[in-house]
Amino acid sequence: MAFCQVIVDIAHEDVDRVFTYRVPKGMDLCPGMRVHVPFGRQKKIEGVVVELVEDCGLPPERVRDVTDTLEDYPAVLPALLDLAKEIRATSFCTLAQALRLMYPAQMRGERIGEKTKEYAVITVDPAVRAQVLAGQGRAPKRAAVLKMLIESEAGEMSCERLRAAVADYRPALNSLVKMGFVRLEKRESLRSPYGAMERLAAEDPQLTAQQREVLDMLLPAVEAGKGSFLLYGVTGSGKTEVFIRAVRHAAQLGRTAIVLVPEIALTPQMVMWFRSRFGEDAAVLHSRLSPGERYDEWRRIRRGDVRVVIGARSAIFAPLENVGLIIIDEEHEGSYIADNTPRYDARELARMRCEREGAALLLASATPSMRSFALAGRGDLTLLEMPRRVKNRPLPDVHVIDMRQELAQGNRSVFSGALLDGLKHCLDAGKQAILFVNRRGYSTFVSCRSCGYTVTCSQCDVSMTYHSTENVLRCHYCGQEQAVPVVCPECESRYIKYFGTGTQRVEEEVKKFFPGVPVLRMDNDTTRQKDAHEHLIAQFRRGEARILVGTQMIAKGLDFPNVTMVGIIAADAMLKLPDYRSAERTFQLLTQVAGRAGRADTPGEVFLQTYDPESYAIETASRQDYRAFYEAEMLRRKRALYPPYTLLARLLYEADKEQDAQRCAESAMRQMEAFFERRAYLKKYVVSLRVMPCPVKRIKGKTRWQVALKIVDRPVCQEAVGKMSEIALAPLEGCACVCQVNPGSMM
Ligand code: ADP
Ligand code: ZN
Ligand code: ZN
Repeated sequence: MAFCQVIVDIAHEDVDRVFTYRVPKGMDLCPGMRVHVPFGRQKKIEGVVVELVEDCGLPPERVRDVTDTLEDYPAVLPALLDLAKEIRATSFCTLAQALRLMYPAQMRGERIGEKTKEYAVITVDPAVRAQVLAGQGRAPKRAAVLKMLIESEAGEMSCERLRAAVADYRPALNSLVKMGFVRLEKRESLRSPYGAMERLAAEDPQLTAQQREVLDMLLPAVEAGKGSFLLYGVTGSGKTEVFIRAVRHAAQLGRTAIVLVPEIALTPQMVMWFRSRFGEDAAVLHSRLSPGERYDEWRRIRRGDVRVVIGARSAIFAPLENVGLIIIDEEHEGSYIADNTPRYDARELARMRCEREGAALLLASATPSMRSFALAGRGDLTLLEMPRRVKNRPLPDVHVIDMRQELAQGNRSVFSGALLDGLKHCLDAGKQAILFVNRRGYSTFVSCRSCGYTVTCSQCDVSMTYHSTENVLRCHYCGQEQAVPVVCPECESRYIKYFGTGTQRVEEEVKKFFPGVPVLRMDNDTTRQKDAHEHLIAQFRRGEARILVGTQMIAKGLDFPNVTMVGIIAADAMLKLPDYRSAERTFQLLTQVAGRAGRADTPGEVFLQTYDPESYAIETASRQDYRAFYEAEMLRRKRALYPPYTLLARLLYEADKEQDAQRCAESAMRQMEAFFERRAYLKKYVVSLRVMPCPVKRIKGKTRWQVALKIVDRPVCQEAVGKMSEIALAPLEGCACVCQVNPGSMM
């Protein structure tokens, strides 16, 4: 008698354990397969088989049968089953929640199926076809359909094409089938997300000496199936080519590879490079795929049709077998950490998956995260360096411009004199320029110059942002809109004004200074539609615009050979955010943006406008000196006891009523205090434990309180985080709670 242990697809603590079912005779089951089982009073719910057992130790009448299987193959591979268990252990979620990460959401509840296409296939012997066709003389439609099939190359055609060619073809086709001249066949068709993607030349470039050296270290590790590396390569050093060669090497060894890139960098460009080098062997997973496309890509991967998967964070769960290499590009990106439950860090999971499958791990960045560089310093990652650009192209010249002086000299424009000169020079030389704005919208906020009143959202504790296209104020937290006031609601002054600089404002100023020069703008407003992002990039690449104005989304991984000038409008915009990572983020962003200039043969120039030229983040970024920044920042983190020296964890409480949020947070605070009282070995590592309202006290009408813990980063301290996660699962009534570890923002 065979039994199986099943995790039912219910994300609840109470059922977070396996249930035993009998495997009916003739049912072929293996771990990872999805099944229907009866559960409690429910006749049929979905579950995943995690283990097969010979004996279940239960009286036979208490064990029910598996109803049926959803697929005839395991949807969750053994390696991914293990990964799900790891996620449960480290993210404090249920196994059912972790398993849901492993296959497309639409497969649950069978909301998606395979798409099939119908084909008509001629069955008449070629020798007598002409005769049969002649016999249709009095039925012109039948003759037309038959003729098309005869003339088609393989003697067949999709019904779709027949429909397009012969109006009202169906009755004719049906009679042909009845007469035995034609057979209908349903065939699976895969929805391809690549549509009309342009292809680049597929030849291999000659490797640079640096690339060669790095590969000499990397390829043996791929062969050996172990090793973790950090590739620190300046912008334009040719990291992509290293990825391609390493992936191909894995493929030649009969193994597969996963390449993770930040969602925002998952441009058709990256995809196109891989597709032009790997063809059908590459699959792509990203958030812009339709559910159908996602499902089909997933199946293509699962069937073993592809060698390499490129995708955002969740592609770490790609159902590839025999993974030999995992690459994480721009490893410093915050987007590798999932923000919803289950919270996981794709970099950590990559490490686990590599260990489990005997694969090499490669993290890469021009501005490695503090954590990874520290790990490399300790020898936990092997550091590989590419300090020079391809063909020894120089890094761009960076001019730092002090905007306080510009203002003192009476320049009220968003552009400094130097930036305007540089832009003019670049355009005169027939090149392209990028203007980077570290914000979106026309201006940031509306404020009264007489009394200082600022228009804030009535639901959230933040300033409203002005959008000039619609001429409205919008809250970026909740989306609420309101009209722009003409006079100050506080003091009735007419001097109520827009402050700050957004992409729209910059675009307008450019048009004023350079009339007739085509400009493109890329920000959240212009990229709402599906594929808008791709279109803008392709347009700029084709040279249809000379200047690209954009936000963060232009900073990452884009390679425009004709761009020789980059202007950074407000370099320090994010330096002032109350987040311990703001210096790191600023350095990364500035380095990445500056790196967009001069990537082909003409050297690049960068104009960096700032109100804070002395800041070490700005100063080191202007020299593109990562190590100097790293040293200064590590020192600061050590002094202020920030990660990677400590862990920051918080319990975030949100409630309609302020008292509820406060009461819940205070109760959690007492639980944490009691917890540490009982554990002297942990208490000594606590740097601070506080309960307080969040800096942004209200969002979408909910009041927010937090319990914030800062504790020395030691493995044993995970226990404290575990305790917080446990508290988070049981908030008092009227309150929602999440537990966050080193959150992207402490707002
Ligand atoms: P990174 O990702 O390190 O910033 P890329 O991989 O985008 O840099 O490479 C920068 C540019 O150099 C790209 O245009 C790429 O096509 C080109 N390139 C990379 N390797 C070589 C090579 N070996 N020979 C010639 N050009 C190369
Ligand atoms: Zn006022
Ligand atoms: Zn709001």
